[in-house]
Amino acid sequence: MKSLNNITKVIFAIIFLINSSCSKEDSIISDTEMINSIEVDSTNDSEDISASLVKGAITLYTVNGTEIEKKIDYAVSGTNLALQKNIKKHDQVWNFIKKVTPTKYLSMIKEFLVFNGEAEQIGGFVTDIDNDLSKWTLGIAIEDIDGDGDLIHIVLHEVAHIITLKKDQVDENKTSDDCKTIGSYSGCVKGNSYLYELYVNYWGDIKKDREELSKEQLYQKYPDRFVTEYAATNPGEDIAEVITEFIKQPKSSNTSIANKKINSMYNHSEIVDFRNYVISNINTTSGSRLSRIATNNSKRKKHKCGRIHKGL
Ligand SMILES: [Zn+2]
Repeated sequence: MKSLNNITKVIFAIIFLINSSCSKEDSIISDTEMINSIEVDSTNDSEDISASLVKGAITLYTVNGTEIEKKIDYAVSGTNLALQKNIKKHDQVWNFIKKVTPTKYLSMIKEFLVFNGEAEQIGGFVTDIDNDLSKWTLGIAIEDIDGDGDLIHIVLHEVAHIITLKKDQVDENKTSDDCKTIGSYSGCVKGNSYLYELYVNYWGDIKKDREELSKEQLYQKYPDRFVTEYAATNPGEDIAEVITEFIKQPKSSNTSIANKKINSMYNHSEIVDFRNYVISNINTTSGSRLSRIATNNSKRKKHKCGRIHKGL
């Protein structure tokens, strides 16, 4: 059993109810504040770190190939016990993930965590396993998911995180002193990465605003710069939201900066392939059905997702 006592972990998440405790340290990594974080002190022993990293953990699955195999049922009660017993719902969520996730990314998902997102106010997260950016845990909050409409945005967003944080995008071994671009939660973003391109083109000129404004204020000041309000959180969330909207929306000639970000994705064959894969598997010939699904997503109180990193 691995004791987690006194290990301070950092949770990166889309949390609307808690102000960001962003790092403001000056360093060559000029954008260490790009990820919102809250620190969580673990005080319990657990056989698996996933249980301690997210409140509301219900069931952890190992992913074998494309199939899931139950690894841990966490000790839960009440609503969460009912959710734990609802294996059919777990399978439905996983089958949807399989449906919209290209094989090369699906094969990087080694664990699937079903959890209740109420406590953390997050709808999903990804976290790398053993500090290896080719192995990920994907967590999906299932308490208020009733169909594909609730899932599409969260799953695409989380897969977009994997795409933009995987090994060809981030140098895990560079220290802060060596990083000449910007820091991600797991290393130094490469100069030719999707995230850094977005940062250079669309975040460099609002650096002062970012220091002075909350993400909500930033969005209110520049609504045409962001594809969603949540995208104003930081460049890492922005790129995930841009990719998600790129997949969901039909091509548009709208001249907003937000739409320019979306259209810039047509220059990246990997992202175009992702879009085509999703559209073909959602069984549509245009973006119309995806748009309808996106509208259904509004039934959630907020767009919620998150990213968890352990052991920082
Ligand atoms: Zn996110």
